[in-house]
Formats: sequence, C-alpha cells, structure tokens
Amino acid sequence: MKKRILIAEDESLIRMDVRLMLEDNGYEVVGEAGNGDKAIELAFAHRPDLILMDIKMPKINGLQASQVIASQLDLPILLITAYSQKEFIEKARQDNIVGYLVKPISEANLLPAVEVALHQADKTKRLKGDVQKANEMVEKRKLVERAKGILMDREHLSEPEAFKKMRSTSMSRQITLESLAKEIIEHVHN
Ligand SMILES: [Mg+2]
Repeated sequence: MKKRILIAEDESLIRMDVRLMLEDNGYEVVGEAGNGDKAIELAFAHRPDLILMDIKMPKINGLQASQVIASQLDLPILLITAYSQKEFIEKARQDNIVGYLVKPISEANLLPAVEVALHQADKTKRLKGDVQKANEMVEKRKLVERAKGILMDREHLSEPEAFKKMRSTSMSRQITLESLAKEIIEHVHN
C-alpha cells in the first residue's frame, strides 16, 4: 500500500515540486496546506502516515501546528526548514518530530529523509504495540492469580491444586483461563 503523506508548506512552488517528487516515487499525497491552520485541519481529516511541515508559515507556524497535532494524534512529522532556523529546531524536541529537511528540497535530500521518517514511525508503532501486548499479558496473569487466591480460600486448596482445577475447568468448558478467572472474581463480588 502506498504511504500517505501530507504537505504543509506556504510556498506553492515548493509544495508542487515536493508533491511531484513524492508521487514520482510511489507516495500518495493526501493533501496540501499553505498554513498551519490548514495543516492541522488536514491532519485530522486524513490521518496521513507522515506530515512534511514547513516551520515558517502564516497564521499558525509549523512548530505550533505540530504541537496541536501531537496533542491529539499520533502522527510523525518531518520538519522543513532553512539553515537559519536551526536553533528553532533545537527547541522542537517533540516526540512526534522524527526529523528535519533543510531547504532547498531535492530528491536527493527529500527521499532519504522521508524513508527514514516512515521507517522510524513504523518502528515506534511496533514498539508501542509490543508494550501494550506485554501489559495485557501482565493484566491477564494478575486476573488468574486473583482467581486462584479466591479458589484457594473458598475451597481450601493448595496453590497447585487451585491452578490445576482452573486449568481443567477452562479446558472442559473450552473457555480461556482469563474468562474463567473473571467469572470466579465476579462471582465473589455478586
Ligand atoms: Mg515557509
């Protein structure tokens, strides 16, 4: 699937150039914004895979727009800047800013930057997914532990006995250990 990119840049010639370079190289440009307001609006509307964001733009500038977007959406942003704005970027240490591109933009600097940014974003997403899965596992384990404790108390079982009982019950009823654990816990609260 084509990666979807949003371009926010107030100079229309640069915008057009960047669009062509991206499209020529297999990317889909989902929108073009000429100011920070529009960039925010289009980010929410399209949820692109990547936003190319010029820093100096009318109305809301690129850094402010990036902040607004980051407060609600998990979208990677590649800043577009001129050399003179370098100190500006040093201040822009935001999680969603995955890199920056220095003007003038050409295929030679655009494409590697876009590729790295997208790769980085994928990696971050995967990591977040892994952390979430690990958290879910811990939660499941806690449920089972709690239910086991309840069984041990209620039926005067040892820990291995309680666990064995839960395992065989969940197998014979063909439900997961966690659902059985939930039933046991809810039963106590009822
Ligand atoms: Mg500009």
